[in-house]
Amino acid sequence: MYDEIKITDLEVFANHGVFPEENTLGQKFVFTIKLYINTRLAGKTDELDDSINYGDVASFVTEHTKTHTVKLLEAAAEELAEAMLLRYEIVKGVSVEIKKPWAPIGLPLREASVKIERFWHKAYVAIGSNMGDKKAYLDFGIKSIGEIKGCRVVKVSDYITTEPYGGVEQDEFLNGALLVDTLLSPKELLGELQRIELEAHRERKVHWGPRTLDLDIIMYDDCIVEDENLTIPHIEMHKRDFVLKPLAQISPYLRHPALNKTVMQLLEELKG
Ligand code: ATP
Ligand code: CA
Ligand code: CA
Repeated sequence: MYDEIKITDLEVFANHGVFPEENTLGQKFVFTIKLYINTRLAGKTDELDDSINYGDVASFVTEHTKTHTVKLLEAAAEELAEAMLLRYEIVKGVSVEIKKPWAPIGLPLREASVKIERFWHKAYVAIGSNMGDKKAYLDFGIKSIGEIKGCRVVKVSDYITTEPYGGVEQDEFLNGALLVDTLLSPKELLGELQRIELEAHRERKVHWGPRTLDLDIIMYDDCIVEDENLTIPHIEMHKRDFVLKPLAQISPYLRHPALNKTVMQLLEELKG
């Protein structure tokens, strides 16, 4: 689906390792890096500014590896993948393979290696408030999401005023929807959203009761998640106009992966 820019077997001498001698003596690490991007524009313009300079990538990998010492190859690969995804705007995903040709285990293996692939994901988040300065709480929620490492707020809907849902007597809501590009897993994202809710002095007293700030994950790529603490797509999204209306404003053709209907279609059906 994506084009690929690849660096094969870049050697870096560094001090990662679980064993003390690895940290003091150092050893050779060999990197194979793939950057998943769309090279069509650079292919047409023939301009380096429209692509990625693989010389810069090689220097960055070398520098990063020498300055971020860890114990495990897993951690070295994870940190490097994240750093590259944050550094190069046009990169959609990366593959990082790290080989250790001198793995000190006293047996005649050729090399030990770890290979990971990491991508930017698209998450849709519903925001709501019905206590205090509602607009200020929504603004705070969006600002805080934008400040999470590995999250970029890409689209924000208008805020709409809606009647409360779920039968509890309470003030009307202000609701909105966001598109967030994220490196976090669904679970990690939920953890961050809950931290932000707490920072907004959210207290969970009454289910569906009044709240300063509610942040729900509506969708995450085409993923279907059914964990104890997390259901994606949000289990009620297709029944809620206060979710579908702002969502339709930013992504009308977004498709529910289980119901196989667009947000527009779900909204039309809900209106009846
Ligand atoms: P609703 O989920 O019906 O909108 P609510 O937002 O008022 O209700 P909360 O008290 O905010 O409910 O959250 C209850 C639990 O829902 C959370 O602790 C969380 O683990 C779980 N949950 C499950 N799926 C999601 C999701 N997609 N986004 C956010 N929370 C979720
Ligand atoms: Ca909710
Ligand atoms: Ca919630």
